[in-house]
Parts: sequence; structure tokens; C-alpha cells
Amino acid sequence: MDNAESDEVWDYIVIGGGLTGLGMAALLSFEGSRVLLVEKESEVGGRSRTTQKKGFILDEKPYHLLKFGWKNPLNDVLRAMKHENYRRIMIHPIRHYHLYLGKEETKKLKPNLYEQSKLKYFKQGWISVPRNINQMRKSDYFGVWKLIRIFTSGFKCTYEDMCDKSLQEFNESKKMNETSAHYLKLAAGALMYCPYPDLVSAGEVLRAIKWSSKQPVLFGYPEGGWQTIIDRFVEVIQRNGKILLECESKQILFEENDENRIEGRVLITDKGKYQARNFVLALPPKRIPRLFEQENENLLDPEIRNFIDKLLPISGISMDIAVSNRPYKGRSLLYIENPDAYGIFLSNVEDSVAPPGKLLFTVFSPVHPDNIKDSDFLDKRITELKDRIYSMYPKLKENLEFERVKVHELVDNTFISTTQYKDIRPKTQIPGIDNCFLIGDYVSAYGWGEDIGFNSIWEAYRVLKERK
Ligand SMILES: Cc1cc2nc3c(=O)[nH]c(=O)nc-3n(C[C@H](O)[C@H](O)[C@H](O)COP(=O)(O)OP(=O)(O)OC[C@H]3O[C@@H](n4cnc5c(N)ncnc54)[C@H](O)[C@@H]3O)c2cc1C
Repeated sequence: MDNAESDEVWDYIVIGGGLTGLGMAALLSFEGSRVLLVEKESEVGGRSRTTQKKGFILDEKPYHLLKFGWKNPLNDVLRAMKHENYRRIMIHPIRHYHLYLGKEETKKLKPNLYEQSKLKYFKQGWISVPRNINQMRKSDYFGVWKLIRIFTSGFKCTYEDMCDKSLQEFNESKKMNETSAHYLKLAAGALMYCPYPDLVSAGEVLRAIKWSSKQPVLFGYPEGGWQTIIDRFVEVIQRNGKILLECESKQILFEENDENRIEGRVLITDKGKYQARNFVLALPPKRIPRLFEQENENLLDPEIRNFIDKLLPISGISMDIAVSNRPYKGRSLLYIENPDAYGIFLSNVEDSVAPPGKLLFTVFSPVHPDNIKDSDFLDKRITELKDRIYSMYPKLKENLEFERVKVHELVDNTFISTTQYKDIRPKTQIPGIDNCFLIGDYVSAYGWGEDIGFNSIWEAYRVLKERK
């Protein structure tokens, strides 16, 4: 990777070297296009970067799981780039999902077959969370009859009927019982990090449940951690392209083409000017409008500018707990309530993230957008989270090497609310400008969280191929 300015007219300039920009640039480079990837920081990876501490490999932004495991669109990008030295990157599946109810609650329940095989955990207060009718039938807590309203009324509703209704409105209009409402909230939390019935889009939640009930696994984690995927993309980009680091994009200059349509021509950065036939913008949305700022006007569609201006991200607190032995063996995704949080013994899923014989537990707790700047609220939430985790898993505290707590104002760019569901988010092709494309986890592409970003790569790629 070098920082030299060039006179070349690139086929594509991709701005932003997070996973979405890297995946897009790699796909284009792999098929033979000349690609220049421009990244502001000294390393690529963006929100998926990794870091090391005392031999543990920590995700810079922890609790980072790949939704739907090998069925994720990111894996499709990797699969599309099979080359002579290709070695498949395994995605370790996370197959079991457990909810903490507490010992007193599980005493009142009958364990199902799976819970009987893990009776110790059931007695400690954990139940398994079903994700299809078959599993629901076997669950004493959820039970198919208690969730029947989700099937009888929820699944009959279309996405279009319900996307602009909140889950709370849906629950009230369909008279959901307590168990059904609880199940819907858990799904919204685990799949979208939006456990807020008053805000989250009911159409998106129902669609996510329908979609995920057909998937073999809900979550996965890459073999060797996220760095393996970043390295793979970098290697493929460098076959036909170049990566410029510490190079901040400032502005795109536009011209009218022969058909009187506006096209981007030159990217101005703090390191120099770069020309291209096409521009793919994979940087955080809040930074996008200023790239379109020209002498007297802003060329970005006002509707997109307005959307970006109001865009509400997902925020939250993450915590890594590094322990010098391995007192717990579980590999399930753990749903914790009061406060809402999702955790996993990550080193039990992917060995390499902890030194031999040591354990890494990682947990994420979404924070309501109204509270993310309130330091008293955050302090209280961190204390509650620690109390909860150490009371469930006391052996973590006995052999603690370190804790790392982080507050993230930006987790996913899109909070899946009634004003930010898929159909009203900006499309990949910018209206009025033929050769600039938006990709990232706020674009109108299928999915929830990061898979929106990965699906947006395919949306842009399809449009680009159709134009050729
Ligand atoms: C704590 C946490 C947990 C998460 N967990 C999950 C999870 O479990 N599942 C999931 O699906 N998603 C998760 N995510 C979200 C996921 O990390 C993101 O969706 C994904 O990494 C976004 O990648 P991106 O490339 O679109 O954006 P980014 O990673 O944000 O990359 C944008 C890049 O653009 C660069 N840039 C910015 N401005 C400029 C400029 N002017 N010029 C050049 N470059 C610029 C930035 O430096 C950055 O490298 C999580 C995020 C966090 C923070």
C-alpha cells in the first residue's frame, strides 16, 4: 500500500476502507478493473478492525458476529473471488441461543430435550430460545400455543403493511399476548440490536423472523477472526488496484457528459487529486454530503441529504472480559435482559482470539439513542451489565486478566425504525448522477446491520454490470 499520487484514470475509486469498501473494491479488482481504494486512517478495516492485548485478539468494535453464518452476503463476496491460491475462510456457526430467565423462573418450567441434556445450565436459569415452529413446540416457556398469535396474525401481514408501524402498534392492534410480545422483542434485539418496541419497524421484525427461521444458523464468526477477511480483500485489491492510506477524501468534482448528464470526474483528497470513471462511496453517511459540495451548490439529491441528516444510528456499550483459564465451555449466543445484552464466549467459538487455555467473553448492550450521550445513564448501565454478568458467571471474576468497556455512538448506521426501514433508505445509484454509487449499512438493501452493507455491494455491482 503506498501513498503516491498518479495520473491514471482509474476504472473505479472506492472511498472508505471498511469491510464494505474493501469487499466492493476486491470484487471489482478480481474481475479485472483498475481500482483505487482511498482510506482516511492508517489501516483499513473501519469498524471491523482488530487489535491485540496481552495475547488476546480483540475486535476493535467487539461482539461482531456474522449474521446467518456462511449464508451471509459477505461470504458470497468471498466465494465470488476464488483464485488459484484460494483457501476457503471457514465461518464457525453459532447454533444455540439461550435466554437468561433466572433460577427462580426455570424452577417453574419443564426442561425440553435439549435443556435436559444441559440440565446444569437450565437449573442455573438458562432456557433455549426456539427459532422455528418445531423448536417452539418443544419449549415450555415459549410454547407454540403461546406464540400462536404471531403465526395467525403476524405472518399473514406483509412487510408493506407493517414497515411503517412500530412493534408496539403491531402488538396492540393484533392483541399480542405477553409471550408473543416478549419473543418479538427478543428477535428485534438479537437480529437488529433494536429491542425498543416503540421505535423498531414491525414489518422489518416480522420479515427478519420469517427469513431467519429458514436459515440453518443465525450467527457465525470467521476462522482466524475478522483480520483474515480484511487480509483476503487487501490481497485481491492489490492484484489490479492500489490502496491509499491516511488519505482523506474532501470533494468530488463533477462535469456534464456528452448526453448533458452529470458525472464525477476527479476526487480531491488531502494527498492530491485522482481521476476515475466511477466512484463508489463506502464511507460513513454523515461524511457524504460534503463530497458533493461544488462552488455554488450541493449536487447530492436533497432527499438523500435530508435522510442522512436525520439518520439515527444504533448505539451501545460493549465489554470484553479476558480470563486466564477456561471455566466455561458454552458456545451459545446468550440473551440477557435487565439490561438488554447479547453475549458469547468467543474463544469457545474461535480458538485463536485467546491465548491457549484462556477465555474471551464478549458482550454488547444496545443503548436507546436518547441516552447515548448521558454519562450518568451510561455509568449506571455499565455497572448493571457487570453485576449481571459476574452474577451469572462468577468464575470470570476469579481469574480476570482484564476488562475492556467501550461506548459506541455508532454501531450500525441504521436503527431499523419506522422512519428508516429498507424501502425508504437511499438507493445505491444517486439520482441525477450516473457514475456515483452509495454502499454501506444505511442503503436500501436487504438485511439488518452489517448485512445491509454487504447486500449493498451486490446492489451496486448489479447496477454496474447492467450498465456495461
Ligand atoms: C460494537 C460493534 C458491534 C457490531 N456488531 C455487529 C454484529 O454483530 N453484526 C453485524 O452485522 N454488524 C455489527 N456491527 C456493525 C459493523 O461493524 C458495520 O456494519 C461494518 O463494519 C460497516 O462497514 P463499512 O465498511 O460499511 O463502514 P466502516 O467500517 O465505518 O468503514 C468506513 C471507512 O471509511 C473511512 N473514511 C471515513 N471518512 C473518510 C474520508 N473522508 N476519506 C476516506 N476514508 C474515509 C473510515 O476511516 C472507515 O475505514 C458492529 C459495530 C460495532 C461498532
